[in-house]
Amino acid sequence: MKIEIIKTQQPMEKPTSERLGFGQHFTDHMFLMDYKRDIGWHNARIVPFGPLEMHPAATVLHYGSEIFEGLKAYRTKEGKVQLFRADENMKRLNRSAERLCLPTIPVEDSLEALQAFVDLERDWVPEADGTSLYLRPFMFGNDPFLGVHTILNATFVIIASPSGAYYKEGIAPTKIMIESEDVRAVRGGTGYAKCGGNYAASARAQERAEQKGYTQVMWLDGVERKYIEEVGTSNVLFKIGGKIVTPELNGSILSGITRLSAIQILRDKGYEVIERPITVDELKAAIQDGSLEEAWACGTAAVVSPIGVIGFEGDDYTINNNEIGPVTQWLYDSLTGIQWGRLEDKHGWIREV
Ligand SMILES: *Cc1c(COP(=O)(O)O)cnc(C)c1O
Repeated sequence: MKIEIIKTQQPMEKPTSERLGFGQHFTDHMFLMDYKRDIGWHNARIVPFGPLEMHPAATVLHYGSEIFEGLKAYRTKEGKVQLFRADENMKRLNRSAERLCLPTIPVEDSLEALQAFVDLERDWVPEADGTSLYLRPFMFGNDPFLGVHTILNATFVIIASPSGAYYKEGIAPTKIMIESEDVRAVRGGTGYAKCGGNYAASARAQERAEQKGYTQVMWLDGVERKYIEEVGTSNVLFKIGGKIVTPELNGSILSGITRLSAIQILRDKGYEVIERPITVDELKAAIQDGSLEEAWACGTAAVVSPIGVIGFEGDDYTINNNEIGPVTQWLYDSLTGIQWGRLEDKHGWIREV
């Protein structure tokens, strides 16, 4: 793939590591590529970061045709820059595209774009402990007319944001509320696709949970409202009676790459990991009889986020004395160890830029 590069004439000043936060600062450039039905993907380019010009009738603004990915570039202590399972992100982007009738991109091309872009922005990958360059590839339908129709034009963009350590004062257990009114997704819908619309549908429950003093909601299935699906925008795993259990991918759950990797290394370590439906009643019973040993959420941003309290129908249930459990801690250390190059990458998950 030919990528044209136009470098900025005004490089920005890089924020210090204390000021990074999440998703607030952006790098000097962005990657762009256009799609037209009759010619396919074309005009791959890296240009100075700036606003996108859009037709006011653009499909995405009216019908929500948007998908995205989220991954990080990590700086190792030797100064190398590396990506973690980026091929999985690009495969998932295509699964999302297929669901929303957006065009797919050959994985070797989207990976090449990502590599070329991160290579150009490599000085933006911060080096302080726990910091990273967050990468946000996204695609949207971009036809300049209002009729509801097959998408003929689309745009693929990658932007990057240097981000601070997720845990500044060490890992802290969170307070989660089981949401019994709103649902995030249903089977047959777009739950397994990483699309902006799912986030729009989640916002109200998230706001309500925050008002009640919880960090995140725990989503239930959209049909029976009895099976656990996800926590906020993360997958969820439990340790019950010595075994690891996590909801099985049923079409409405997003297949997280952190979840996938957690399952793999837990199995390598000898744990039995079971993917199956888990009901709220089972969870309540396991908390009450003490067999629920640990619970944690899994996603790229936090990697692993222990759950200390679960709120349900007005009652709060405490897990593991509201402390981080040994498996949760081990998983956090193992995954972040591979990502930042402190531990051996036995599975070929790392790609150096
Ligand atoms: C992105 C996302 C996740 C986590 O996926 P990772 O690949 O691990 O970052 C989980 N659930 C939802 C709804 C998501 O959007």
